[in-house]
Amino acid sequence: MSVIVRNCPSPTGDLHIGTLRTALYNYLYAKKHGGKILYRSEDTDKERSTLAFEENIFDGLVNVGMIEKETVIYRQSEQTSKYRKYLEQLIAEEKAYYCFMTADELNAEREEQKRNKLPTRYSGEFRDYPADEAQKRVDEGEKYVIRIKVPKETDIVFTDLVRGDNKTNTRELADFVIAKNLDSPLYNFVVVIDDHEMGVTHVMRGEDHIPNTPKQLIVYEMFAWTPPHFAHFPLILNADKSKLSKRKNKTSVQDYLDEGYLKEAILNFLILLGWNDGTEKEIFTLDEMVESFSLDRVHKGGAVYDMKKLDWLNGMYLRNLSLETLTERVTPFLSDTIKKYREEKGEELFQKILAAVQGKLKKLSEINELVLFFYEFTPASTELVCNPKMKVSEEVAKLAINGSKEVLSSIDEADFTEDNLKEKLIVKIKELKLKNGQLLWPLRAVLTGVEASPGAFEVAVILGKTESLKRLDSFNV
Ligand code: GLU
Repeated sequence: MSVIVRNCPSPTGDLHIGTLRTALYNYLYAKKHGGKILYRSEDTDKERSTLAFEENIFDGLVNVGMIEKETVIYRQSEQTSKYRKYLEQLIAEEKAYYCFMTADELNAEREEQKRNKLPTRYSGEFRDYPADEAQKRVDEGEKYVIRIKVPKETDIVFTDLVRGDNKTNTRELADFVIAKNLDSPLYNFVVVIDDHEMGVTHVMRGEDHIPNTPKQLIVYEMFAWTPPHFAHFPLILNADKSKLSKRKNKTSVQDYLDEGYLKEAILNFLILLGWNDGTEKEIFTLDEMVESFSLDRVHKGGAVYDMKKLDWLNGMYLRNLSLETLTERVTPFLSDTIKKYREEKGEELFQKILAAVQGKLKKLSEINELVLFFYEFTPASTELVCNPKMKVSEEVAKLAINGSKEVLSSIDEADFTEDNLKEKLIVKIKELKLKNGQLLWPLRAVLTGVEASPGAFEVAVILGKTESLKRLDSFNV
């Protein structure tokens, strides 16, 4: 049996981190087993589904490499006549029925059950209502819903590939609604029709769908179809263990991409939200993920969303990119100012700067502030240079900058290399009886004017002798 999984988000919001994690696990499972992934837009909720959300989800999945650009979108909203045929079949076979209870009547029933301390469930009022009478009321235009005849006192069992055996007795389920009318079928019905017709072998989704599974199994049973395997992935949680929410975390995948998180880092981060390979290994290429992923190592407990880990992973991935790929990835993030400098001062300089800041970059969007000082000099404040933590007083700063000027002037343009600078500056530090930081901190601060940058030698070499000396001259306390 070849594996067929599905990727079937509801277009009722932007591509969410949780949706992507589900898509990733399905992707890995399918790839590992040489299977196929289907894409389906579950847009039966007419009020909440929009094409804009569908586009955001679909484009997002393409952008991170989970689906192909050419993938044809199968929309449930376009299959109404098919679902209608199946609804009519169940009604004809008396496995489903029209129910005419109004909202008020249902409410009254619930209130009564509450008063009697009974579970609040639809009582089955229309379950045995004569079919011809029901049909007459429908034909006369009376409002109705369609309910499925849940078998009485029956255990519905399935083995969850992540969570093990699951058993629900139908006593806990009322005759649930499968359609608002013949042309408005609901999720638990259409999902079964589609999964069956598309030949889905593995239904793998978030844990929040566990209560839906027995209901869907009842629908399979009604059609005498063999159900697929099921697996439910753990919830993703905020730090306070509540379900991941927009209010406490950024949840839109596009927002992460726009901020300069790499798709590789996002996917790596997501695989770890609910799975590990049993070792300490945390960095996985996509190929390694396919190789290592297995359902039996998916966790049962909720996975806490840790932004710090994502930042760390993103930094790791950025540091490991080749300069060529980094250039490619960073280019869409450049501000007009940096684009202009890049153009004016040449690609060679830009590449040197990029190589120098690569290790400092945590997100692509930080690129502009990290590289600006190379092109545009803003003199350092005295507070930045005279750093008590580095034991740099005004006096020490003066000594350090004057000493540095001497050293830099003494080196020929052609020998202005990191090694030479280092060697000669260390001699100078000894001569002035300073600690390394007492000279190197003020030198770096005066050269860059910023709090964080690559080290002094590297910056000086990229700036060149003339520009470095010019910047040192600007400092006077
Ligand atoms: N459309 C559902 C969702 O977005 C997924 C349903 C399923 O996987 O069965 O949560």
